[in-house]
This record gives sequence, structure tokens and C-alpha cells, in this order.
Amino acid sequence: MAAAQTSSSPPPDRRFLIFFDFDETIVDESSDDVVVQAAPGQKLPGWLKDTYRPGHYNEYMQRVLAYMAEQGVSEGAIRSVIEKIPASPGVMALFQYLRSRAQDFEIVLVSDANMYFIEAWLRKAGARQLFAKIFTNPAAFDGKGQLRLGPFHSHGCPRCPENMCKQAVVREYLARRAAERGRPFQRVFYVGDGANDFCPSLVLGARDTAFPRREYPMHRLIGELRATRPEDLRAAVVPWESGEDVVARLQRLEEER
Ligand SMILES: [Mg+2]
Ligand SMILES: [Zn+2]
Repeated sequence: MAAAQTSSSPPPDRRFLIFFDFDETIVDESSDDVVVQAAPGQKLPGWLKDTYRPGHYNEYMQRVLAYMAEQGVSEGAIRSVIEKIPASPGVMALFQYLRSRAQDFEIVLVSDANMYFIEAWLRKAGARQLFAKIFTNPAAFDGKGQLRLGPFHSHGCPRCPENMCKQAVVREYLARRAAERGRPFQRVFYVGDGANDFCPSLVLGARDTAFPRREYPMHRLIGELRATRPEDLRAAVVPWESGEDVVARLQRLEEER
């Protein structure tokens, strides 16, 4: 299976780098939950749900997708439920803003969903070209019509699920791009919602901004850290309810120079 990364030549030079999570950040639901709508009766049998073990979500989804293939659920049916997931509030406006400031922003997606769901949704939304790079679990339909997932990478972070630590992804990407560019980005942004978006926010610097979705796990975990070990988080924190909240902040920072 091909590595779940896109593009080969480095993106052009931009001042800013912005990372996006996918589920419940770009889209307003979790794609892994939505895909079940394509299953018979739009739900999974209890015996299958009972096989989930914490920290092994990727393997669980592989069993879910195997079940759906056995039940005769087609690629078209899966694609169609994924394409219909609504964008989160204001996210299309945020994309429009980033499109209008293409000379300033390098845009990267880092998600524990999978390449098939993400590319299907982004292409339908006309937003695939915004992203210089997508880091996610590899996924492709096999000859028997089953969507097969692979693990993204392995890592040693105790905070994160075994197949993906987004902090490792962000750290490696920042190091590689700084080497390619000969200098770091002026500012780095991270827009997310989940518990696994908390880990990468810990590597952001004092000029950077973490955007946790308000009242979601990333926001809660940042709040807990700030109450106990505030020195561990250097980035500014701007909670969002709409993509417009992110636009407002980016606009202000862009004008600063
Ligand atoms: Mg998420
Ligand atoms: Zn981690």
C-alpha cells in the first residue's frame, strides 16, 4: 500500500503554516461514524462494536470496513455518505479566506481518519488543491470491494493512539520544511478539536496559535494543562466555534507583519 502522503516537490515559500485536523474540525461530524450510515440498517451489530479496544481504533475501523464489504456495501454508497458530511460552521469561509491569501499560507492536513474519506470529501467540496500535504492513514479499495486501511506510522508517544501521534507528524514536518526553506515559518497555526490534537499543540512556539474547537476535548485538555502546568504550552490559544473566528485572528496577525 502506498504511503499516505501526497505531492513530491516542496511547496512554494510562504510566511505561515496552518495545520488542520479533519473530523469535527473541517467536517462537522466524524467520518468513521458517518460511514456506518451506508451499512445495512444504518448501524453496526453489537458483536462488532464490542471488538473495539481503546488505543486500537484503526484496527477496529478495519473490522468495520470488512463487515461492510461482506454485507455488499459498495464504494459508491460509502463515497456518497462521506461526500454529504456538512462542513463545520464557517469552515468554507475560512477556506475562501486562505484561498485569497494563497501567497501567505502553506496548508497541511493531519488526520487519523483515512485518505479515501478525506480526498472524497475535499474533492467534492472543491478544496483538495488548498492542501500542500495530507498526513493520514493510507486507504484504498481492494479487488473484493473492501476499503483497506493501513496504520500511518509507529511512534513512542504514550499520549496518542498507536497508529498516529500528530505531534510527531508536526515536529517532523516543521523540521523538514525549515531545512528545505533555509528558515522556519514566521508563524504556525493548528486548528483542531480532538484529544489527539492536544499533543501537537505542545510543540507550538510563542509566536504560534492553537485553535481548539470550543468545548471539545482539545479545548478541555488545554484548559487542564493551563491550570496545572501553564509553562508547558507556549502558543497563544484561540478557541473557535466558527471558522470565522479563525479568520479574524489570522487577519489580525497578517496585518501585523
Ligand atoms: Mg477531529
Ligand atoms: Zn502524541
